[in-house]
Amino acid sequence: CGIIGIVGRYPASPRLVAALKRLEYRGYDSAGIATLSNGELDRRRSEGKIANLESALLSAPLDGTVGIGHTRWATHGPPTTRNAHPHMHDGVAVVHNGIIENYTELRKSLSEKGFAFETDTDTETVPVLLSSLMKEGVSPQDAVRQALKLLRGAYALAILFESHDDMMIGARKGSPLVIGVGEGEMFLGSDALAISPYTKQVIYLEEGDWCVLTKASYTIYNEAGDEVTRPVQEVVTEE
Ligand code: GLU
Repeated sequence: CGIIGIVGRYPASPRLVAALKRLEYRGYDSAGIATLSNGELDRRRSEGKIANLESALLSAPLDGTVGIGHTRWATHGPPTTRNAHPHMHDGVAVVHNGIIENYTELRKSLSEKGFAFETDTDTETVPVLLSSLMKEGVSPQDAVRQALKLLRGAYALAILFESHDDMMIGARKGSPLVIGVGEGEMFLGSDALAISPYTKQVIYLEEGDWCVLTKASYTIYNEAGDEVTRPVQEVVTEE
C-alpha cells in the first residue's frame, strides 16, 4: 500500500499513476487518484491492477496539476472500487494508509449528526469528520488540526480540499510519509522512491507530524501543533 501527493506545475494524473507503479512493490488490491482542477475535485478508482486505473483514466481523463493517489491493501471493507481510495465527502478528498482504530465510534457519532457514509472503510470517517468540522466554520487547516486529535490508530494521510487549488495537507502516525521539495512544487510520498523522478530533496516526517504544502512552501507541525523544522535530506537512488 502506498500514498502519493503532488502540488505541482505539470499535469498530475500521469505523474500520480507513474508514482503508484513505483509503489506497487508494497502490494495492493486496488488503486485510485483524485485531482483538483479549477477548484473542483474529481477521482477515478478501480479494483485490481493499476492497468485498470489507467484504462479508467483513458476513457475519462482527469485534468489538474494537483492530486493524490493511493494503492490500497484493504483492512476494513472488501477490495472493491467503491471502497478504493481516494475517499471524498463534501469537497474533501483523502488517501490513507493504516487503520483508524476508533472508526466505529467516529462513524456512529457522525451518523447521529446526519452525515451519510458510502463505503465500508475505516478511512471514510476522515473526510466526513473534516467536513463536519468545516461546516462549523473551521478552516481546512484547523479542521485537520482538530481531527488528528480525535483519530486513534495508525495513519499516513494526504488531503485535498475543493476550492483550495494550491494546498495539500499531510499527516503521519505509525505509517511513513515523506515530503518532497521540488522546484516550485511539493510532493508527499510513502517513500522517497515514489517521488524520486521529481525531486531528490526529501524531508522525513516524524511520528505525529503533519504538514501544509503549497507549490512554493511547506510548513510542518508536531503533534502538539507547534511549528517545527525537520532536516531536508538528499536522497540517493539507483534510478
Ligand atoms: N484501512 C484502510 C482501508 O482498508 C487503508 C488500508 C491501506 O493502508 O491501504 O481502506
